[in-house]
Amino acid sequence: MFGLIGHLTSLEHAQLVARDLGYPEYADQGLDFWCSAPPQIVDDITVTSVTGQKIQGKYVESCFLPEMLATRRIKAATRKVINAMAHAQKHGINITALGGFSSIIFENFNLHQIQQVRNVTLEFERFTTGNTHTAYVICQQVEQAAPTVGIDLAKATVAVCGATGDIGSAVCRWLNAKTDVAELLLIARNQERLQDLQDELGRGKIMDLNEALPQADVIVWVASMPKGVEIDPVALKTPCLLIDGGYPKNLATKIQSPGIHVLNGGIVEHSLDIDWKIMNIVNMDVPARQLFACFAESMLLEFEKWYTNFSWGRNRITVEKMEQIGQVSVKHGFRPLLA
Ligand code: NDP
Repeated sequence: MFGLIGHLTSLEHAQLVARDLGYPEYADQGLDFWCSAPPQIVDDITVTSVTGQKIQGKYVESCFLPEMLATRRIKAATRKVINAMAHAQKHGINITALGGFSSIIFENFNLHQIQQVRNVTLEFERFTTGNTHTAYVICQQVEQAAPTVGIDLAKATVAVCGATGDIGSAVCRWLNAKTDVAELLLIARNQERLQDLQDELGRGKIMDLNEALPQADVIVWVASMPKGVEIDPVALKTPCLLIDGGYPKNLATKIQSPGIHVLNGGIVEHSLDIDWKIMNIVNMDVPARQLFACFAESMLLEFEKWYTNFSWGRNRITVEKMEQIGQVSVKHGFRPLLA
């Protein structure tokens, strides 16, 4: 059985969907209440591969909200992740994806040091960040969507916002090794990590966001920001392809401007309907078929019986592992969202 640990994008979102999640008593409650809420399994899932294989899974709502980080409720945030992992393990789930901020919190606050959660000894090999599949899908989106909007990658400048992150660095590695992208712009705040990435790639210009935006033909957004940024489309090139892989989204506003194409990043569409309700709650356009690529990774590991933490630790994703997960993604009927 596979598991998905997820969270909602804001307190407002959580209050709006509390009833659908099965928590009617949470609908009028503030952040402190969510801080003390335990994890719960709120969805039982059946996925059928195009090969005919069927698997079962569960969605674990961690009750983490990004406001917990913004308001420095760090203890609450870390408790949410670790308790959700213990909950998944207690229910016998073989492989569980740590969606959205769960894996970021796990890494940033060294949660591998906390292996004992009450009577559960966490077995980390039962968890995956799902970031290898997410990075693979984002790269496919860059390669496949760019030509459809009139961008020739061989002449294009691609900016990666969040370049030094787990997903961002993998995207840079792939674009460097597998494509003929003309120029890479590397954006993040910590200069030392940017320098290390540039040394590893042997290329790429380190830039701040405002300097990079007017130069980029493609912008991949994979920064771990609890709230999205406002950007002025007038500052962008046309055509420009924006691939927003953040959860919550890195872009705060819906940009509607001629020549500017925004794509939901790190999202896959399955070839067959999935029996679940959770993607309605996170407002996917086609909730029966569309999902986060990190969640799809745990489904793929379950289909293949690869019971291992396929994606684990920071900045260790290789092009070979992206190819490996990419092959089984295609085999089981997932494809990157292209519109
Ligand atoms: P990491 O924490 O590994 O990396 C985050 C990156 O963002 C770092 O390079 C960090 O560098 C940079 N960053 C953070 N804040 C800012 C800022 N204000 N301006 C510029 N850069 C910034 O995160 P992941 O790679 O694991 O995840 C990235 C995003 O992808 C998150 O939003 C996550 O929720 C989302 N995600 C989406 C998935 C999907 O299936 N679609 C799956 C998993 C994650 P620095 O701190 O130096 O600025």
